[in-house]
Amino acid sequence: QPVAIVCVGMAGSGKTTFMQRINSYLHSQQEPPYVINLDPAVRTVPFDSNIDIRDSVNYKEVMKSYNLGPNGGILTSLNLFATKIDQIISLLEKRTGPDPAKPDAKPIKNILVDTPGQIEVFVWSASGSILLDSLASSFPTVIAYIIDTPRTTSTSTFMSNMLYACSILYKTKLPMILVMNKTDVKDAEFAKEWMTDFDAFQAALREEEEAGSFGGMEGEGVGGGSGYMGSLLNSMSLVLEEFYSHLSVVGVSSMTGAGISEFFEAVGEKAKEFETDYKPELERKR
Ligand code: GDP
Ligand code: MG
Repeated sequence: QPVAIVCVGMAGSGKTTFMQRINSYLHSQQEPPYVINLDPAVRTVPFDSNIDIRDSVNYKEVMKSYNLGPNGGILTSLNLFATKIDQIISLLEKRTGPDPAKPDAKPIKNILVDTPGQIEVFVWSASGSILLDSLASSFPTVIAYIIDTPRTTSTSTFMSNMLYACSILYKTKLPMILVMNKTDVKDAEFAKEWMTDFDAFQAALREEEEAGSFGGMEGEGVGGGSGYMGSLLNSMSLVLEEFYSHLSVVGVSSMTGAGISEFFEAVGEKAKEFETDYKPELERKR
């Protein structure tokens, strides 16, 4: 049975570039994936997709005819698409299963899903939940949370990003891989260290406090150890320790392809966890 990999992340974190990279990696491994684009507003998709939301809904027309702005347009397009989810799932099951016409063809092992740039529209909307739940009820499903590593190097942006990832984990109840992208610009070791070594994170907090550059709020007296921000970050990092223990973290560069095979190792682990830990929970709720 194929694994569904759903890419989410802030606009500009590199979801589409990452999709393109893992897609070409799988092709080079002679394991072509099944690819779904759920971003109605994207102009061009730099990879071949088997299902494209833009084939069934016209985002610009939706905006015009319902008199909506960009976010409303994306949300309404997703809603319209979600009404067809049953057809999509049966198509997926048919296409990824054994093909009677080609008995020697390899079964498809991966379904890749790209999501709209506006992460909240997908994660927090009813149609986003419907799409994810339907996928997860048919296939082992894993969330790849893409992070813009070079933009996450201060303790406060790092913490904000982790809290967002944490909220998505609890909202979707699906196994998650943190994909620290753009390691060609900034190595992800600092993040891995902060996630495993509380003292290292504290030291970074203190350093930023002393440099007076805490969270980019220079001279506002919100220091790492003493001010309210510092003590808030301190206590949150204890809470996050528990969260971190459930995650896989990989550093990748969608630009160069570094770290992509490690990503697929993590997918293998999380797909197993889906079967043992997450699926029973999902079925209990149904
Ligand atoms: P999306 O909005 O999340 O789909 O992000 P995109 O894939 O469109 O990427 C946003 C920007 O980040 C683009 O300019 C990409 O070229 C750039 N980008 C994506 N991945 C990488 C990477 O691994 N390294 C570098 N240096 N830039 C990247
Ligand atoms: Mg994109």
